[in-house]
Amino acid sequence: MSATSTPLVIVGAGLAGWTVAREFRKLDATRAIVMVTLDNGDFYAKPTLSNAYAQKRTPDQLVTTAAAKMAETLKVELHVHTRTLAIDTQAQTLTIQKGAVEQTLAYGQLVLATGAHPIRVPVEGDAAYQVRSVNHLGDFAQFHAALGAAPKTVLVLGAGLIGCEFANDLVLGGYTVHVVDPAATALSALLPSQASAQLRDALQDLGVVWHFGTTLQSLTHSEGRMQARLANGDQVSADVVLSAIGLRADMSLAQHAGLECDRGIVVSQTLQTSASHVYALGDCAQYASAQSRTLPYVMPIMNAARALAATLHGTDTPLVFPVMPVSVKTPALPIVLVSPSPHDLGQWTQDPTADSSLGGAWRFVDAKGHVRGFVLTSKHTSKRMEWSKDIVV
Ligand SMILES: Cc1cc2nc3c(=O)[nH]c(=O)nc-3n(C[C@H](O)[C@H](O)[C@H](O)COP(=O)(O)OP(=O)(O)OC[C@H]3O[C@@H](n4cnc5c(N)ncnc54)[C@H](O)[C@@H]3O)c2cc1C
Repeated sequence: MSATSTPLVIVGAGLAGWTVAREFRKLDATRAIVMVTLDNGDFYAKPTLSNAYAQKRTPDQLVTTAAAKMAETLKVELHVHTRTLAIDTQAQTLTIQKGAVEQTLAYGQLVLATGAHPIRVPVEGDAAYQVRSVNHLGDFAQFHAALGAAPKTVLVLGAGLIGCEFANDLVLGGYTVHVVDPAATALSALLPSQASAQLRDALQDLGVVWHFGTTLQSLTHSEGRMQARLANGDQVSADVVLSAIGLRADMSLAQHAGLECDRGIVVSQTLQTSASHVYALGDCAQYASAQSRTLPYVMPIMNAARALAATLHGTDTPLVFPVMPVSVKTPALPIVLVSPSPHDLGQWTQDPTADSSLGGAWRFVDAKGHVRGFVLTSKHTSKRMEWSKDIVV
């Protein structure tokens, strides 16, 4: 069976799935593309989920292009609300299921863009099942409905990137926000300590109540609300509890098919998995081009999708990531950062020439004196392009 005479099949209709389809269509107007997705396939920018309240946007308003329009424009056969159950890499087929109906599809090339799952930790108490996560538009619609319009208190678990963004957004939306994290300060995994302290103070000034150095122990129903008991003895009454403690690549399908997986689906520089004709990108992938890291952000997906489309079209194209600064959507303290790889040994140093009344600027410098990362806050974020040029990749 020729790899290109049978359809290109893409599992997942998130940013990764749709962007590969779009990039591939720029190179090939006619080859059959089939997409299979568990959700309804509507196209939206996931980053807007954590700044929708400040912008007063409802879940429906976050959809930029309806699934049917995407499918028509890109000439894609789209299977929505359909689960891919299994892949047979020898026969080059996959089994999909919609409702009770199962079907087998043949693929010439297969792209896995299955995203990631929110990490959940066990919590005691009769309201533990009420802890929510927001990783898709459908989750956000439920969260939005649970919050409603009345003044409410939200307990956010996790002071990482997503937790801090939601805390900022919800407080701007008029909610009372408490954040619990076992670390000593905000966004501590990504920022030098002084930058973390700036973010903590900026959000606190807006009204965010921090509970650092502790965890949620139990959640119980209490007079129409929930009572959260923290490990340090604090009690918080909340109406909604949002868990934002991180994501884990969704590898279930790949593992079941015998593909090599680690922290994500392992892919080579050309984004091929351990099976011929099967590729992966997006939140589910662990990239050889990024020192075997997962990169659950938008810019890596855009770069990976362009390279993968060229490879799928017949020109093997190794993926080379440029420097990709991440903007943290905390308007209380705008932050732009490039994180060093965990393999990079070095330390953060503050730029003494940066005017501290305008925020802060830090470089991560390794033992050889190479700049491997940076953090810019507040007005210094305007230097992102200039500072990106100094990074040694
Ligand atoms: C709240 C929030 C804010 C963010 N903000 C930023 C930001 O500001 N900047 C930034 O760079 N990044 C941000 N990110 C990260 C970025 O949005 C993600 O990296 C990106 O959207 C992931 O896209 P994806 O297509 O890989 O995964 P997903 O969007 O998770 O898509 C996975 C798809 O796979 C489908 N699927 C899974 N399993 C199956 C199966 N068995 N069968 C069929 N279909 C299946 C799902 O239905 C879904 O369509 C944010 C993430 C979140 C959650």
